[in-house]
Amino acid sequence: MTVSRDKVVTLTYELRNAGGDLVDTATHEQPFAFIHESGMTLPDFDRNLSGLKAGDEFNFVLSAQEGYGEVEEEAIVAIPKSIFDGPDLPDNLLIVGNVLPMQDQNGNPLNGKIVAIAEDTVMMDFNHPLAGSSLHFTGKILEVREATPQEIDHGHVHAGGHDH
Ligand SMILES: [Zn+2]
Repeated sequence: MTVSRDKVVTLTYELRNAGGDLVDTATHEQPFAFIHESGMTLPDFDRNLSGLKAGDEFNFVLSAQEGYGEVEEEAIVAIPKSIFDGPDLPDNLLIVGNVLPMQDQNGNPLNGKIVAIAEDTVMMDFNHPLAGSSLHFTGKILEVREATPQEIDHGHVHAGGHDH
């Protein structure tokens, strides 16, 4: 069976950024499983795996555009320091480099990275951490199987006793 639409693919991978740093990994002990071409993964990630079968290794590079896009200046914004005041918030929250869980105007969760701190504002970068970077994937296909109708319906993989 080869990797194609609506197959459950289980694989190991290592992801390196443009600088060659290892930024994400899925090991043999804790592999990554997803439904191919279901929108769970980057479309160009899926495309590069199409046609492979269990035991095949892969090694490919996605451009930033195929990955998480270019860095958007508009996604770096000044936030009033006052919103970080609160009895439940830790003292060491506001440190350059910290990544904090935030919300957009619609209440959707997104992470913001502190890039600068001024007197009354905090500059936060809401770009994806891998925006502007190519993505170098290497790894191995462990298993390819048909997704069950329930998995396709739910949009996720059922494994290891996951039940509803
Ligand atoms: Zn489910």
